[in-house]
Amino acid sequence: MSSVYSASSLKAELNERGWRLTPQRETILHIFQNLPQGEHLSAEDLHARLVEEGESISLSTIYRTLKLMARMGILRELELGEGHKHYEINQPYPHHHHHLICVRCNATIEFKNDAVLKAGAKVAQKEGYHLLDCQMTIHAICPKCQRSLMPV
Ligand SMILES: [Zn+2]
Ligand SMILES: [Zn+2]
Repeated sequence: MSSVYSASSLKAELNERGWRLTPQRETILHIFQNLPQGEHLSAEDLHARLVEEGESISLSTIYRTLKLMARMGILRELELGEGHKHYEINQPYPHHHHHLICVRCNATIEFKNDAVLKAGAKVAQKEGYHLLDCQMTIHAICPKCQRSLMPV
């Protein structure tokens, strides 16, 4: 799996790949590194937090930065209902996890499954690919929403 992202090793790795960790990007990274387990931020959520911290950054810059960070394997992109994307830090094993998402209310449960990760790693290795992430997303309807769908 990918390396553990401490701020310093990440900085070095980003420099190596020609991506400058500007103070603003570092602030974004810091926010994601300190998110409580199970919390995922949308671009709008992140924007609100940055504005709160006194940063002036446009939503379009945030969209671009999040996309880039996801493509580099630093963040993971999580597709919630209605094409709504949320992000979280890409944590290596053993914190690596998958998501069970309610398509009606977006309630999300994180779960671990080493078999999925192993299967992904095996396929990538066989083809000579460098694995960045392997996640399973299960779309379902939660018990609460099932109850509200029941006929009276
Ligand atoms: Zn998650
Ligand atoms: Zn639900």
